[in-house]
Amino acid sequence: MSDQLSLSCRCGAVQGHMTVEDLAAIPRYVCYCDDCQAFIRYLDRAEEVFDGCGGTEVVHATPASLHLDSGTEHLRCLDLRGGGTLRWFAACCGSPIGSTPKSPGFPFVSLVATFIRDTREKASIGPIRGRLMLKYASGDVGPLRKDALPAFRMFLRVARTMLIERLLRRHRPTPFFQAGGASPLSPPQALTAQERARVYGGPAA
Ligand SMILES: [Zn+2]
Ligand SMILES: [Zn+2]
Repeated sequence: MSDQLSLSCRCGAVQGHMTVEDLAAIPRYVCYCDDCQAFIRYLDRAEEVFDGCGGTEVVHATPASLHLDSGTEHLRCLDLRGGGTLRWFAACCGSPIGSTPKSPGFPFVSLVATFIRDTREKASIGPIRGRLMLKYASGDVGPLRKDALPAFRMFLRVARTMLIERLLRRHRPTPFFQAGGASPLSPPQALTAQERARVYGGPAA
């Protein structure tokens, strides 16, 4: 028996679902890093996405568990730093979707939790397992520190997951890359200098 989470952008043009063995076992984190914050500011979704301290709630998924059923023509991705990560969003309404490594050979997706639209389903996901990069958080972060998770431990968890999924050959299919190929469905966009100044500018609103 597997469970299912319904996925949708805000306007409903991009729809999908995620299949999981056990909703309560889905890894759930909150990230406060400057890149996550910049991504949400780029989309003007701070009010909808951020917790009170600039954090973005994400759930970790494998590409093969994600299925986009409609609206894939609206998918766009940002390459914030020319690094190894693509940040995906729905251009129809500017909803964040999540991030993936730049290559489909690395089977990992960090899904922004607002892409899970059904609040009842979302409530059945397990507890937050860690808060990352709290040094970038703003406001009253004191109560959050008990959940702080060092970046290297997160890296080890993700690397372990990717290794297992890759060995099990569950890096395919992926909804973000062309079938059988290595090209993202949409060419990665870089930020202009003005966009960079705006989204990395001040502290979290
Ligand atoms: Zn939309
Ligand atoms: Zn982050």
